[in-house]
Amino acid sequence: MEFCDSCGHPTALAETESAHHTSQGLVRYRRCACGHRWVELAPFLPRPVRL
Ligand SMILES: [Zn+2]
Repeated sequence: MEFCDSCGHPTALAETESAHHTSQGLVRYRRCACGHRWVELAPFLPRPVRL
């Protein structure tokens, strides 16, 4: 998903509330500026994210 379902903002600009490594990859809990929240699963992360 590239844009927020709710307001259309690019999801790249959404905040990452938390991230967890699982056996399936990196699960990230994202929150848009409009308050819409969703869960993202990244099966592969080329580089560690700076927190
Ligand atoms: Zn939004």
